[in-house]
Amino acid sequence: MAQLPIGDDQIEPFEATLHGPVIRPDDADYDDARAVWNGMIDKHPALIARCRGVGDVINAVHFARENDLRVAVRGGGHNVAGTAVCDDGLVIDLSEMRGVRVDPDARTAWVQAGATWADVDHETHTFDLATPGGLVSETGVAGLTLGGGLGHLRCKYGLTCDNLASIKLVTADGDYLTASEDENAELFWALRGGGGNFGVVTGFEFDLHPIGPEVATCLVFYPGDRIAECLRAYREYVASAPVEVSTLALAGVMPDEKLFPADAVDEPKIGIVGCYAGSVADGERALLPLREIDEPIADFSGPMPYVELQQLFDEDYPDGVRYYWKSLYLDGLSESAIDRIAYWTDVAPSPLSTVDVWQLGGAIAQVTVEDSAFAGRHAPFLLGVEANWERPEDDDANVEWVRDCLDDMRQFSDGSVYLNFPGFLEENDDTMRTTFGPTYERLVALKDEYDPTNVFSLNQNIAPSGSAQTGGGGSYE
Ligand code: FAD
Repeated sequence: MAQLPIGDDQIEPFEATLHGPVIRPDDADYDDARAVWNGMIDKHPALIARCRGVGDVINAVHFARENDLRVAVRGGGHNVAGTAVCDDGLVIDLSEMRGVRVDPDARTAWVQAGATWADVDHETHTFDLATPGGLVSETGVAGLTLGGGLGHLRCKYGLTCDNLASIKLVTADGDYLTASEDENAELFWALRGGGGNFGVVTGFEFDLHPIGPEVATCLVFYPGDRIAECLRAYREYVASAPVEVSTLALAGVMPDEKLFPADAVDEPKIGIVGCYAGSVADGERALLPLREIDEPIADFSGPMPYVELQQLFDEDYPDGVRYYWKSLYLDGLSESAIDRIAYWTDVAPSPLSTVDVWQLGGAIAQVTVEDSAFAGRHAPFLLGVEANWERPEDDDANVEWVRDCLDDMRQFSDGSVYLNFPGFLEENDDTMRTTFGPTYERLVALKDEYDPTNVFSLNQNIAPSGSAQTGGGGSYE
């Protein structure tokens, strides 16, 4: 049960300043409102402010400051580390702010910060336009964009944050600012990759690109005893693939009875998944080699509406299941790295878990750390280690598997991670410094300017100067 650090005499006047509801621990909808996607997270906030506009967000920030409350900011509630909620403090919840407005002539979209990718894709797809989002449409736009954003269009059009034209946000002082190349440019630099450290974003303006309505896709699965051979062929393929191709390889059992023949359901597999951001005919040709690596178990590749591709994996990540994910940028896919990926896939304690290799490069690598704070453009691949399981008694085995795998795979990496797949960063973890390298001090200078008392600390945290905290605010205890 949440400890209420404040009483009705403070809460009631606050409620009166909001257009949206304030949800308290004894309200009927409290448990639904505090739940996030990851079933490992069980936090009890003192209050949840469901904001309906910028005015509500400004009033909520002032209220938290005046009452010295911990602050969590919730976009789509899909951060694996559960940083969208907290114990005892205030959740500034933007989940009712989901408006999307497309200007098809200017090829831009204004998106409120509580929107999901399904909200955005629905509107942009109407005009055969898209901005690069993530691979699961229920994920929030806000967290994904502020942390970078890797999607099906990444090698052609870059990260999600590379497609931002401007951002509106409320700072820790309650100021309402625009950040763009022309206004508060240094803040704009930091927001593209620096996460939720600098304020509460209320809206994003994205550039859009012509996509679809159909795109060529690759969705092919090979037997698990061919993981090493497939990864070798995959490495050779992506080395000369056109920038329109963005793919990932995922290895695991993935026991889906609807997709696979009965004798393959419970066996390990490797899948290669992705799309071609261009004409369907060119894409079918370009993706063909990935479908001919070996005799597939199943091949669902083919043209598909882009908006359907964006929702294809939604069912695989249901709310409330237990998740622990981490990542590591890889220097390459050497023979020994491939062998270790095959090994860690083999020993995964849960059949729902996967070891993923994301292809990077292309447009992602064309942007520098001078252009945006995002760290990780140098790497050719990103390793994602996803433990997904159902029973609480299996927590330790699954968490340990991810941690051991990461410890082993660090030999193939400079140790930097993709901050949107962070697992839980412990306090004083040096992952943030390792990941940002020299850029970290530039981010600290901005944190000192915009949030010197670390009001926004529940994130992959950039601690202001003089603060003891480094690392992150996520935990599942
Ligand atoms: P939330 O949990 O709501 O927020 C996470 C953090 O973001 C908050 O703690 C806060 O620090 C910050 N934040 C959120 N809203 C705001 C705001 N309005 N203003 C300021 N800060 C804010 N990532 C990819 O790049 N590509 C993928 O394909 C991809 N697939 C995923 C699939 C699933 C099923 C899941 C669970 C995650 C996936 N991710 C992917 C990771 C995803 O990018 C992060 O989990 C991201 O944090 C989710 O954003 P959210 O708004 O839903 O998160």
